[in-house]
Amino acid sequence: MAVTRTFSIIKPDATRRNLTGAVTKKLEDAGLRVVASKRIQMTREQAEGFYAVHKERPFFGELVDFMVSGPVVVQVLEGEDAVKRNRDVMGATNPADAEEGTIRKEFAESIEANSVHGSDSEENAATEIAFFFDDSEIVG
Ligand code: GDP
Repeated sequence: MAVTRTFSIIKPDATRRNLTGAVTKKLEDAGLRVVASKRIQMTREQAEGFYAVHKERPFFGELVDFMVSGPVVVQVLEGEDAVKRNRDVMGATNPADAEEGTIRKEFAESIEANSVHGSDSEENAATEIAFFFDDSEIVG
């Protein structure tokens, strides 16, 4: 299987509880390599742009408020079939539905404050990586 890249965010609920390392260990244990990482305070403009696909959803405003409520860690992850591998270790959006051993089962607080974002396709991964990183910041 091909080595590919995906984009991840450790969300404010996780950075607030000092879980950056614990979440990253789960990613690494799942066979993903962190090839870029930075801790940032997202601006409202960035959060609205990043989640523009959800603009019409009723929870859009709350989601943007949540994503700017504290620092996040944006990451590029590399591994075999990275998008699926990351989605598998993240677990279901709603932690109540997430499988044992997944990040969201172990750490998420709610369907909104669910600790991690992960791209859902290779195409979106490329767009999302470019949203936050220059090529020179990614060292595989
Ligand atoms: P994901 O790909 O598993 O992150 O899920 P989605 O793309 O469907 O949703 C994006 C993000 O919006 C989720 O990770 C949650 O943080 C948030 N979200 C999803 N569904 C809900 C909801 O019903 N209510 C609220 N408040 N937030 C939600």
